[in-house]
Amino acid sequence: MKKLFAFAAIAAAVAGVHAQDFPGSKTITMVVPFAAGGPTDRVARDLAEALRKPLGGATIVVDNVPGAGSSIGAAKVARATPDGTTLLLNHIGMSTIPTLVRNVPFKVETDFEYLGIVNDVPMTLISRPTMEANNYKELTAWIAANKGKINLGNAGVGSASHLCGLLFQSATKTEMTPVPYKGTAPAITDLMGGQIDLLCDQTTNTSPQIEAKKVKAFAVTTSKRLTTPLLKDLPTLQEAGLKDFQVTIWHGLYAPKGTPPAITKKLNEALKAALKDPEFIRKQEGLGAVVATDGRIEPEGHKKFVAAEIAKWSPIIKAAGVYAD
Ligand code: ASP
Repeated sequence: MKKLFAFAAIAAAVAGVHAQDFPGSKTITMVVPFAAGGPTDRVARDLAEALRKPLGGATIVVDNVPGAGSSIGAAKVARATPDGTTLLLNHIGMSTIPTLVRNVPFKVETDFEYLGIVNDVPMTLISRPTMEANNYKELTAWIAANKGKINLGNAGVGSASHLCGLLFQSATKTEMTPVPYKGTAPAITDLMGGQIDLLCDQTTNTSPQIEAKKVKAFAVTTSKRLTTPLLKDLPTLQEAGLKDFQVTIWHGLYAPKGTPPAITKKLNEALKAALKDPEFIRKQEGLGAVVATDGRIEPEGHKKFVAAEIAKWSPIIKAAGVYAD
């Protein structure tokens, strides 16, 4: 009962700020639960810029709160004051963490207001530039010849690169040494320097490095080949023989549970305007991402989609036996 009163009091106080003036002179903080310079950070920074105009020229700062495969940043937003000034931009981890991670410090289904899906992003399997193999077939032989010696980077337990790496090891029946980072920005730096061997990461992070030949690319994780000129010649992992292998990352925007409906409506409308911004679309498409246009850009559609993703990934993760502590 006490909790209910406290909640009602916060909601009333927040509503008193006049939702129609939101955000006014207030700064909005968009929490990115991974390191700066990586793929989630890239999407957040482009989105923050595209949201400025529809939010009346608001100041939107990106706050990187990395660690624990996005759990730390997501938990921070779940506990923030629900007044629309603290938002979370997170990826597929919202749907895989509940299965991959034990003791998640927040509840994906009930601790957030869902504001809409932003985009879908394919992943690529890449290696250090000095890798002896030059195509997927040669990579398979190299993996077989180097059992027990392969270092595979990831952005922490529950991250997209972690999920992709676990599924890859399960599908190829190999075991690699996981090397966790606070995001795939530091992971790709180490990959380019040869400190680790392999990484599975979003095209938004890997495309510039593939183009500059600072890493080698072997395959994409989507079920169909990509059309981006840079990546169109890469085989899918399905084509390369890994039956049913398919991972596509998506990003969504969230506010803490209890954010007043007038504010979440305003944020959703701003998001939909940002998703139509030609400059935002151009930047995203240039990196292999597809900006969302379907029913998932509505809060109900977003929430339904995440629930469906949890239902989809849970049996795949369990069947692959890739639970992590
Ligand atoms: N790409 C990362 C992941 O593997 C996250 C990031 O650094 O944006 O989940």
